[in-house]
Amino acid sequence: MPKVPPLAFHVLAKPVGPKCNLACEYCFYLDKGLFYPNSNFRMSYVVLENYIRQLIESHRVSRVTVAWQGGEPTLMGIDFFKRAISFQEKYCRPGMTFENTIQTNGTLLNDKWCEFFKENNFLVGISIDGPEWLHDSFRVDLNGKPSFKKVMRGLRLLQKYNVEYNVLVTVNRKNANYPLEVYRFLRDEVRTSWIQFIPVVTRINNAGRSLYQKGIKVSKYSVRPIQFGRFLILIFDEWIRNDVGQVFVQTFEATARNWLCLPSSGMCVFEKTCGLGLALEHTGDLYSCDHYVEPDYLLGNILKTHMKDLVASEAQYTFAQDKFASLPNFCRKCNMLFACAGECPKNRFLSTPQGEYGLNYLCKGLQAFFKRVRNPMQTLASIMRVGRPASDIMQILAKKEIDWQITLAKAKPRDSCPCGSGLKYNQCHGWKSPKCQ
Ligand code: SF4
Ligand code: SF4
Repeated sequence: MPKVPPLAFHVLAKPVGPKCNLACEYCFYLDKGLFYPNSNFRMSYVVLENYIRQLIESHRVSRVTVAWQGGEPTLMGIDFFKRAISFQEKYCRPGMTFENTIQTNGTLLNDKWCEFFKENNFLVGISIDGPEWLHDSFRVDLNGKPSFKKVMRGLRLLQKYNVEYNVLVTVNRKNANYPLEVYRFLRDEVRTSWIQFIPVVTRINNAGRSLYQKGIKVSKYSVRPIQFGRFLILIFDEWIRNDVGQVFVQTFEATARNWLCLPSSGMCVFEKTCGLGLALEHTGDLYSCDHYVEPDYLLGNILKTHMKDLVASEAQYTFAQDKFASLPNFCRKCNMLFACAGECPKNRFLSTPQGEYGLNYLCKGLQAFFKRVRNPMQTLASIMRVGRPASDIMQILAKKEIDWQITLAKAKPRDSCPCGSGLKYNQCHGWKSPKCQ
């Protein structure tokens, strides 16, 4: 059933395909070069012009996002992006504005790049995995050398030029063990106010390659489900007590939006359907999603078929609807479905306790996270519904904490524990190790 094109959508354009000056050990994208043998991995100006023109023609809203990613997109050089801006000016409709975003490892940034970003209002996403000792565990260059110092130099330059930026942390099997070290480093040392946490879940084949979303084997860098849940919980506990309204953590914002029943969470993984975040390879090949750059999800090439027809194609419609349609019953009955939506289909390769295929690999961690945030999210949603600022929750929680400590202080050893566990106080919250007595 062909569909009407959406009013707006998001394309991650990869002007250098998977080419990168780093070789982060967990990267799921580097192997994608195998789909383009003999390619020079550089988007031509013909593809670029078609891309910008078609993107504009496909949008029926006045704000268009032009998003660049890789690989490492800055390898294309500034002139390529200047040309992209000139095509935006050439095809711009009256009243239309653009938001250019670029995801970069930051290592190649210099004054010229920052001046360009500032002049053209780019939003720059910097990939950084935490403090140096965590970041350099996996984010190394082609010779295996650490990249942290170069990333920080790029980041400080962005700050110096007052370029709008955010940071993206890939949560892997190592840094997931150090949530507060990661979060406090970003908040206190980098001094960033916008953070994305993306779990590393890379499905690999027997040769260790990450070419297809197939099989149940994950790379040794992939975060473990419980580890991911704990990572989010510990950061959430820190954030909700101290940083609401100051630091924006995408996962928490999206969760709050779902608790408030807003039309969109802002994160495709927590939406009922997806399909509005596509990927454009350097050749003009358009894929259903950045995580599905593989032949079965190739919608077509924009030099042959207009982007709006590809976005509205039957294949993309089915891809989008499958996010909900393919949910196992276990998820359909889950009381967190409204917040989780079964997360990303690429991670759904486990079987449920009933033996049904399609449970999300991260489920145990996601369940733990949503369970932990349920009460504070309810409070947050209720204060926001009456128009109070979200940051008021910090006072409310601080007062609850004081009340709780007073209640505990009043409890006698043989009383029922005030937490409601049904145990005596001295067997529960009032329990003391014999060493402390
Ligand atoms: S497949 Fe996953 S990452 Fe891609 S659009 Fe859907 S939810 Fe988002
Ligand atoms: S928490 Fe688990 S069971 Fe519930 S919707 Fe998410 S993936 Fe499904």
